[in-house]
Amino acid sequence: MPFRLYNTLSNTVEDFRTIDSGKVRMYACGPTVYDYGHIGNFRTFVAVDILFRFLKLSGYSVHYVMNITDVDDKIIHNAGSPDIAAVRHYTDKFSNAFFEDSKALNIDPPQFVRATDHIQEMAEFIAELEAKGLAYRAEDGSYYFRIAKFPPYGKLSKRDFAGMEDGARVDVDEYDKDNARDFALWKAPKPGEASWETKIGPGRPGWHIECSVMSMEELGESFDLHAGGEDLIFPHHENEIAQSEGLTGKPFAHFWFHSRFLLVEGEKMSKSLGNFYTLRDLVLKGYKPSAIRFLLTSVPYRNQLNFTFDGLQQATASVERLRNFYALVSNPPKSTKPDATSLAPLAAETKDRFMQALGNDLNTAEAIGAIFEMVRVANAAINAGNWKLDTDQKPLLDVMNTFDAVFAVLKDDDAAKINSIVAWAKIEGREIAPELLAATANQLSDADVEAKIAMMEAARKSRDFKSSDAIRGELTAAGILVEITKEGIRWRRK
Ligand code: AMP
Ligand code: ZN
Repeated sequence: MPFRLYNTLSNTVEDFRTIDSGKVRMYACGPTVYDYGHIGNFRTFVAVDILFRFLKLSGYSVHYVMNITDVDDKIIHNAGSPDIAAVRHYTDKFSNAFFEDSKALNIDPPQFVRATDHIQEMAEFIAELEAKGLAYRAEDGSYYFRIAKFPPYGKLSKRDFAGMEDGARVDVDEYDKDNARDFALWKAPKPGEASWETKIGPGRPGWHIECSVMSMEELGESFDLHAGGEDLIFPHHENEIAQSEGLTGKPFAHFWFHSRFLLVEGEKMSKSLGNFYTLRDLVLKGYKPSAIRFLLTSVPYRNQLNFTFDGLQQATASVERLRNFYALVSNPPKSTKPDATSLAPLAAETKDRFMQALGNDLNTAEAIGAIFEMVRVANAAINAGNWKLDTDQKPLLDVMNTFDAVFAVLKDDDAAKINSIVAWAKIEGREIAPELLAATANQLSDADVEAKIAMMEAARKSRDFKSSDAIRGELTAAGILVEITKEGIRWRRK
């Protein structure tokens, strides 16, 4: 069964083919780290994660690279220092937050590459473009790409630049250039701005060159897949193609994957509309990371996803239902009817439907639909004892594990993730939902718990069971389950 995937470049759903058999080399444009990621960003990152996980589930070995844009005009401005180390310090905070948020959303980590670790390679790339006549240096030391020298320009975004008049602005920046269409490859520093010394002079890279350089460095001149949100089609990805193909004369990425923008309550997210949410905002309102992930995955990536709080409530209930089903099948009632009907055929059929739905341009809605249908039928059957435990348990769990290899919401680990966001919010003085505060108020850190366990052990050694029990009571009240075994005292959070 071929994997059918929409390719923005051909504007059609194609059979997915790779350059090297069985291997996928893919690149996704990552975040610009000057703020916390919002749920629109995470729609895209989760969509690419679904793709990554589905490719692995389908048997591919996948080399997946994502960049961290840790230098751009806003970052240089916000860092407010000519010192490169200060810029790094500023972006570290937000790139670490991005890693934590991605982890909270169970995004399977790609290989991350940071723009500021590759500045010299970018300067080299620009020097080569200049040698080929594709780039030129402006008076102030900035470099631009000469679009007129790359006739296929516009092939990804299907814009016709041939007829476009000189002087029409398509890329907005503040520097001098020969032709208003040309875009910046390298920006010369203004007084007081951080910059890097390179063979093409001091300055900092433009955003587009970063991705061309880092993707080709890690994945080669031609690779299989390039991903991002739909806003990146033009100019970012168009410019990446111009730079890369202009230099090598070879096709750059074969498949272009773009996820559609997310709306919130039917509107574009914006701070002025008050509908702008980071992942952390939603967690602090009392929603679980697993529910947020589920909601983001529930609409196929090329369809409009309208994020609503109603939808988030439903997603919470859906995740709960799936987890309960998994727990039921893992630990089912033992009594079954002697003439019971097997659920194994339903499991097999569901797995097929699930894989086919995802194989059809990642139709996540249909894939989830197939799982819920199985859950509904199997729940009723198991509760009525109308199934065959011996033959059915394994295939049912197998379907759920297959589902979770892509959707990743079954593991009940929200509490720890929420706790760490609440701890961050307390330090940052953010607003926290009262019920969350209450739930985490008497929470002990791991070190606190270990210390109390040590006290319990000491008390038990001196046969002071009264003290040991008192400490145990305290721990139980704080949500810690304590188990006394022959090997010692074990504990875990409820
Ligand atoms: P940025 O940090 O702005 O460079 O964006 C990181 C990623 O998030 C890019 O792939 C964007 O296309 C994507 N993105 C930004 N806003 C949205 C949105 N509202 N919906 C979906 N994806 C988005
Ligand atoms: Zn990019």
